[in-house]
Amino acid sequence: MEALPAALQQLSEKVAIVTGASRGIGRSTALALASEGAKVVVNYASSSGAAEKVVEEISALGSEAIAIAADVSKVDQADALIESAMTKWGRVDVLVNNAGITRDTLLLRMKPEDWQAVIDLNLTGVFLCTRAVSKIMLKQRSGRIVNITSVAGQMGNPGQANYSAAKAGVIGFTRTVAKELASRGITVNAVAPGFIATDMTNSLKSDEILKYIPLGRYGQPEEVAEMIRFLVASPAASYITGQVFNVDGGMVMA
Ligand code: NAP
Repeated sequence: MEALPAALQQLSEKVAIVTGASRGIGRSTALALASEGAKVVVNYASSSGAAEKVVEEISALGSEAIAIAADVSKVDQADALIESAMTKWGRVDVLVNNAGITRDTLLLRMKPEDWQAVIDLNLTGVFLCTRAVSKIMLKQRSGRIVNITSVAGQMGNPGQANYSAAKAGVIGFTRTVAKELASRGITVNAVAPGFIATDMTNSLKSDEILKYIPLGRYGQPEEVAEMIRFLVASPAASYITGQVFNVDGGMVMA
C-alpha cells in the first residue's frame, strides 16, 4: 500500500479508530485510512507485536498511529480506547467497529458461554464504542462510523446462531443510530463481508464453500477495506447513512 499524494488525501488531520486492527480486515482498513492521511488508533486484544507492526507500516506511509490494547466488549476498556485518541490527538472523526470473533457450533451443542462471548464482542462491543465516540462526534457535529456485519447476519449460517444473531443485531443497531445521529452530520453505515481470506476463515476454506460464491473465489481483506475507505473518506459518501453494503462476491443479492 502506498500513501496518496497529499493533495489527494481525504483524511489528513483526521483521526480514525479501528477496532481489531492487528490482523485481517481491520489491519487492511487501518492501512487504507492511513494512506488517506488519517492518524489511526490501532486497537487489538492480545497481538501486541502484530499491532505494533501495523503502526510501523502506517509510519512508513507517512502518517501517525498508536497501538492500544483494549477488550472492547468491556465498558471500561472501550471507553478508555476512545479516550486514548482524544488524549493523543484531541478529536475522533472515524470509528470502524471491526473487532469480532467466532465460536461456531450447532445450536444443540452451543454452550451459553459460546453464545455470550460472541454477543459481548460482536454486538455489545459495537454499542460500547459507538456510544463513547458519539459524545465526541455530536460535539464536533461531524463523524463517520462503519460497523462490520456479515452475510451470516443476513441469510443465517448453520453453526453460527450466536454470530449471525450478533451480526443481524449490528444491522438494526446501525439503522437506529444512523437515524439518531443524522441531524448532527454523522453518518453510520454497515459493511457485510462474505467469505474473506483471514485468520478467522482459514480453517473453513473448502470447495463446497466456493460453490456459494458467484464470483468463485474468496475475498481479500483489502477489498473490504476499500468499501470502508469510500464510506469514511470520500466526499461522495456524505449523503449515505443507515445502509448495509455487501462485499461478498455476490453471495447475497437482495
Ligand atoms: P481476524 O483476522 O480474526 O481478526 C480479528 C481482530 O479482532 C484481531 O485484530 C483481534 O485482535 C481483534 N479482537 C479479537 N477480540 C477482541 C476484543 N475482545 N477486543 C478488541 N479486539 C479484539 O478477523 P477478520 O476476519 O479480519 O474479521 C474482522 C471483522 O469482519 C469481524 O467483525 C468479523 O466478524 C467480520 N467478518 C469477517 C468475515 C471473514 O470472512 N473473514 C466475514 C464476514 C464478517 P488480536 O489480534 O489481538 O486477537
